Amino acid sequence: MYKAFLIKYGEIGVKGKNRYLFEDALVNHIRYVLEDVEGEFLVRKEQGRIFVETEGEYDYQETIEALKRVFGIVGICPVVQMEDNGFEDFAAQTVAYLDQAYPNKNFSFKVKARRARKNYPLDSMEINTELGSKIVEAFPEIKVDVHHPDVEVQVEIREKIYVYSQTIKGAGGMPLGTNGKAMLLLSGGIDSPVAGYMIAKRGVKIDAVYFHAPPYTSDRAKQKVVDLAKIVSRYAGSMRLFVVNFTEIQLAIYDKCPHDELTIIMRRYMMKIAQYLAKENKCLGLITGESIGQVASQTLQSLAATNEVCTMPVYRPLISFDKQEIIDVSEQIGTFETSIQPFEDCCTIFVAKHPVTKPNVNIIKRSEENLQEVIDDLMRQAIESVEVIEI
Ligand code: ATP
Ligand code: MG
Repeated sequence: MYKAFLIKYGEIGVKGKNRYLFEDALVNHIRYVLEDVEGEFLVRKEQGRIFVETEGEYDYQETIEALKRVFGIVGICPVVQMEDNGFEDFAAQTVAYLDQAYPNKNFSFKVKARRARKNYPLDSMEINTELGSKIVEAFPEIKVDVHHPDVEVQVEIREKIYVYSQTIKGAGGMPLGTNGKAMLLLSGGIDSPVAGYMIAKRGVKIDAVYFHAPPYTSDRAKQKVVDLAKIVSRYAGSMRLFVVNFTEIQLAIYDKCPHDELTIIMRRYMMKIAQYLAKENKCLGLITGESIGQVASQTLQSLAATNEVCTMPVYRPLISFDKQEIIDVSEQIGTFETSIQPFEDCCTIFVAKHPVTKPNVNIIKRSEENLQEVIDDLMRQAIESVEVIEI
């Protein structure tokens, strides 16, 4: 029934003269997600609107699912496009459309017309009443209700005429890449993929870094992170995943530092390396899945100790989320099933039985002095041997 979709976008509207940049980013991302959908699509801008037009056969449900993953879209309206062959023809086609879209005529409606082409012979008010009476004439059981209609028959008069009555909710947020790029610390857990999704939603492009510790962590644990990155990229677009071999650094920390401080010290080195890679790759911040009090390394004291090594902003979108709230988002975006696969991550192997929960930065720094002789070399080796996976 539908050969086109009208795309409604939200916050882009307020961006003044940068508006076209936002619209172009949105058009590009729509084209990107539709590449994987069966069918031929034409995506184009027309005066404050984006239209997706189809050519020939296409999969309606898949198209909607793909468009629902595009940040910046607030509404997806399946639309009927008509050539302007005079009012009678337009009214007849609208009646035919309503007949097909609503087999059960037990509803109220109103017509809401917008005349973008000012030389159309009827103005919006006239279209509302004239078309409204044609509809009532065709289906006497349908009632007009201008205040709380069940169905709003929306009409836009442009070069062509567009009629739609359904708006499917979009993902919201802002188009990808309109707010720079950040580096996600992506583990195999539940939290970090959700954190990446949430920052990407605000228009931030993402690269990711994963610290693995072979042979203590397996290839399957790494594959799980690659799989998670792929799921996140369904929303966040293509990304680069940097895989850092962290084994030697972890062993050195294990060897030379108090065991109750292992996690904090390890996390400080993760942040330092992530920050280095972020700068190299033009990222303007780091993203983590931390949430206050979730584990010993996420008390306010631990977060302060971890954060102390960072010179670039660290975005922690889950900071006030309860675990269940994070799980809800992870189920909604499709990462949960992968996240709960039971593969070890490097933190679980080197964790102490009784980690400090209130680390003191000065004490941590003194413990780190034990690494002085080896750490610069180990950091350099870890960075030089980074594996880059294009997702
Ligand atoms: P997650 O579910 O995201 O793994 P978590 O509850 O297990 O989080 P931690 O293991 O303390 O919490 O990790 C806190 C954050 O540090 C993670 O959300 C992630 O951003 C980052 N992180 C932890 N381990 C790694 C790793 N091996 N590689 C990359 N980032 C990591
Ligand atoms: Mg984890």
